[in-house]
Amino acid sequence: MDIVNPDIEFKRELSRMSGSNLNQCMQCGNCSAVCSLAPGDRPFPRKEMVWAGWGLKEKLIGNVDVWLCHQCGDCSTYCPRNVNPADLISAIRQKSYQEYARPRFLGKLVSRPSLLPVALLIPVAVIITILSLAGTFAIPDGPVDYSAFFPHAWLNSTFSAITLLFYGLAAWRLGHFWRDMRRLYPREERMKGQGIKIFQVLGEILSHSNFSGCGNQRTRKFAHMMVFFGFGLLILVTLYAIWAALTRNYPLDFWNPFKLAGNLASLMIFTGLGIMVFNRLFNRRVFGKSGYADWLLLGAIGLLTLSGSLVELARFGNWAIAYHLYFFHLVAVWFVVMYLPFTKLGHVFYRTTALLFARSVGRK
Ligand code: SF4
Ligand code: SF4
Repeated sequence: MDIVNPDIEFKRELSRMSGSNLNQCMQCGNCSAVCSLAPGDRPFPRKEMVWAGWGLKEKLIGNVDVWLCHQCGDCSTYCPRNVNPADLISAIRQKSYQEYARPRFLGKLVSRPSLLPVALLIPVAVIITILSLAGTFAIPDGPVDYSAFFPHAWLNSTFSAITLLFYGLAAWRLGHFWRDMRRLYPREERMKGQGIKIFQVLGEILSHSNFSGCGNQRTRKFAHMMVFFGFGLLILVTLYAIWAALTRNYPLDFWNPFKLAGNLASLMIFTGLGIMVFNRLFNRRVFGKSGYADWLLLGAIGLLTLSGSLVELARFGNWAIAYHLYFFHLVAVWFVVMYLPFTKLGHVFYRTTALLFARSVGRK
């Protein structure tokens, strides 16, 4: 027999984050009926609404269904009591980042607006320390030459080491997430699975097939694809730039194919982000409540891309503030890349893991 262990503080927190009055839910099941991703034999999000209403945290953190939801908002649109189940599921995901974060303070650092200055000061302090130790902390005269001010070898090695450390910790915690999903999933259902289906999941992610069922948010798939593939292209260009710096072929000239690819990636990201911001600002009824995590993610990716573009223009134009812009860009890189497992961008890891688990237990 299951022992019910309600966590009222958790329920309050979910209500605050999602703006949902959980007591208003009358368990009609409309939300599960309209959800195009919910399977017939284990539908969501109605059962999550029950558990959230009871404050059953241990059933929600590590629940695979929470990550199969792609936040299309259809369930909120058709909820007769305006409870906003889509925002509630999103709030559970936000709580999951914090629950699985190690060290814990990093999860708190990027989830509370009051801690934003600290989250920014950490990369600022690290970069200043590197510049001081390398002895390059003085803006050089003459044409803009970033390598004369920023010791790329030091920066690349320090940033790579910290990224590996944070991502290693995230991989360890994803193991716990997998274990929790197993524990919460009925054993007899698990036995129907036929192993890990990496290529199937990869196909789903690349094609964005799970976005196709969204009834009310037709632009979401396009916007997400623009940001997703733009970001992927930017990672490839950055890896090439690191290699070019190591082999002293840096900076790249304007017509270098990788430079052109970087500019195309920026354009794709700006397009996708523009649609996302527009929808969140002017289409709130369909796109739901936008919280700190949403704006932090959009803002961080936007500033990273914008500062990267300005850094390039500043070099070609020999702008006086070129080095300051580069400094800001490095802080943005840290914010997006190093903090990734602890912010909403962590869905790249969590959703992929949940999809792998779902397909491994035979969920369609
Ligand atoms: S969240 Fe809304 S649609 Fe879903 S069960 Fe509750 S009242 Fe019905
Ligand atoms: S937001 Fe969309 S995918 Fe998520 S539970 Fe609601 S209807 Fe299903």
